[in-house]
Amino acid sequence: MNGEARKQTPNFIRAIMTADLESGKHTTIITRFPPEPNGYLHVGHAKAICLNFGLAAEFGGRTHLRFDDTNPTKEEQEYVDSILTDVRWLGFDWGEHLYYASDYFDRMHEWAVRLIRDGKAYVDDQSADAIRLTRGTLTEPGVESPHRNRSVEENLDLFERMRKGEFPDGSRVLRAKIDMASPNLNLRDPVMVRILHASHHRTGDRWCIYPMYDWAHGLEDSIEGITHSICTLEFEDHRPLYDWFLDRLGVHHPRQIEFARLNLNYTVMSKRKLLELVEKKIVDGWDDPRMPTLSGLRRRGYTPESIRDFADKIGVAKRDSTVDVALLEYCIREDLNRSAPRVMAVLRPLRVVIENYPEGQTEWLDAVNNPEDPSAGTRKVPFSRELLIERDDFREDPPKEFFRLAPGREVRLRYAYFIRCTEVEKDAATGEVTGLRCTYDPATRGGDAPDGRKVKSTLHWLSEAHARPAEARLYDRLFSVPEPDADKETDFKTHLNPSSLEVVDCRVEPSAADAGPGDRFQFERLGYFCVDSRVSVPGRPVFNRTVTLKDTWARVEKKMQAKKQ
Ligand code: ATP
Ligand code: MG
Repeated sequence: MNGEARKQTPNFIRAIMTADLESGKHTTIITRFPPEPNGYLHVGHAKAICLNFGLAAEFGGRTHLRFDDTNPTKEEQEYVDSILTDVRWLGFDWGEHLYYASDYFDRMHEWAVRLIRDGKAYVDDQSADAIRLTRGTLTEPGVESPHRNRSVEENLDLFERMRKGEFPDGSRVLRAKIDMASPNLNLRDPVMVRILHASHHRTGDRWCIYPMYDWAHGLEDSIEGITHSICTLEFEDHRPLYDWFLDRLGVHHPRQIEFARLNLNYTVMSKRKLLELVEKKIVDGWDDPRMPTLSGLRRRGYTPESIRDFADKIGVAKRDSTVDVALLEYCIREDLNRSAPRVMAVLRPLRVVIENYPEGQTEWLDAVNNPEDPSAGTRKVPFSRELLIERDDFREDPPKEFFRLAPGREVRLRYAYFIRCTEVEKDAATGEVTGLRCTYDPATRGGDAPDGRKVKSTLHWLSEAHARPAEARLYDRLFSVPEPDADKETDFKTHLNPSSLEVVDCRVEPSAADAGPGDRFQFERLGYFCVDSRVSVPGRPVFNRTVTLKDTWARVEKKMQAKKQ
């Protein structure tokens, strides 16, 4: 999108920005997206990215991409790289404005010293446990640290020695001197800086003290001249602290605005849980197509447009809620319906011999590439005597509502002819249907009968000799319950959907066989598929099912529920 403004549904953050420009408080809008490089971005982050970049672009402002890399133990270059890739893929451009919180460590340090000099911060020798235990509760005030009233000189000396590495991890911290009786627990002398002898992915061993989120974040925003610092609701109670630090320092003071984070049903979004799935090899990496990560969605076949459209549709609110993952699926279906070329593929082949069709003959029939897009044109598909159809499209003993092929019944083969089933071949031992004998009506070429007779269904098919082998990976939701992490007592992994992946050897028409990584198709009547970007090989493409054509899961679920009642 690169700066081009998009029209979005109204939201309260836009209203604040408009007012700030009108009142002259700001002349431009500067937002930031501040990921911590401790995992891959997921669709929740996409909401924050679209919001920050989208709004700033609308006002002709800009958005910074800033790595909030203040915790050396969990952060890695791999995550930095993936985040850059994913934000760019989603369609946003930070231009020159790529920043790292770790570049500000010196300035943050100077500011910490300044607060010490002003009597607003002190070194506490208590352990983390002791600090937690003396914090008090919502109904009881906290207990002041015995070190709270140290002299400025002693604090400066101890803080300098913390920086030099004289003390072990956890032995001392720098705390803000605010109010141990504040009704807001975040203001009860929060920890600003801790000792951590750990190598940082950018600053190496230069520092053995690291700033805490609440201390660091406002400073990062201030240094960059951010006007509106948009974050999720859980930081609402931290805002007084954000304001306190910036007010005490008397520096540029952005306005923090909170919005409701995205929660999706049938999904976990916590980076810790996603990491666990990756580390325990329950999924095939951060970009497993079942993951809610942007790299997973990309590999699955989602387009950036569909995710931006989703972010737009869910809007921005002040109250937490859960969005139905069906909405995300709807967005990609809509997009691919417009853009994906149609091809024919058969997932579970059943052989059909057309008895009255000449042996050895091949006809190349015209097939429409995309009925939604006439400019996509047509292609030729081969028809011959031996065909493959979908096993599911035949029933020897069809139930009342089954309109596809059955003994004696006539159906249409898409772009080809009407065929009628004349005989069913079975395995003598197992009774399994092994093939069908059919006849075709040459007068129905192209799919219509000159005598006006109708058929109730149209099937996709392949010419057996021309069909090319491929692998299809049929994905379903990773979890089988709507709220996999709702119950804190139960391990979220117990709710994994055992059939979230089914791999089938399938066949595809020649035009799809040479598709390359990332190519997207609609397999007629089956769903949207995308060539896998990791394991696909020429001659045997691997297709990831992005989404089915209709929401089959909802139907199955409805049935299951109906049965239970
Ligand atoms: P954690 O801080 O627990 O590691 P996080 O998901 O908050 O995880 P960050 O890297 O801090 O990860 O997130 C970067 C930005 O993305 C933050 O500004 C945060 O508000 C936003 N964000 C994260 N998760 C969501 C979500 N589910 N919905 C909307 N925004 C989100
Ligand atoms: Mg965070």
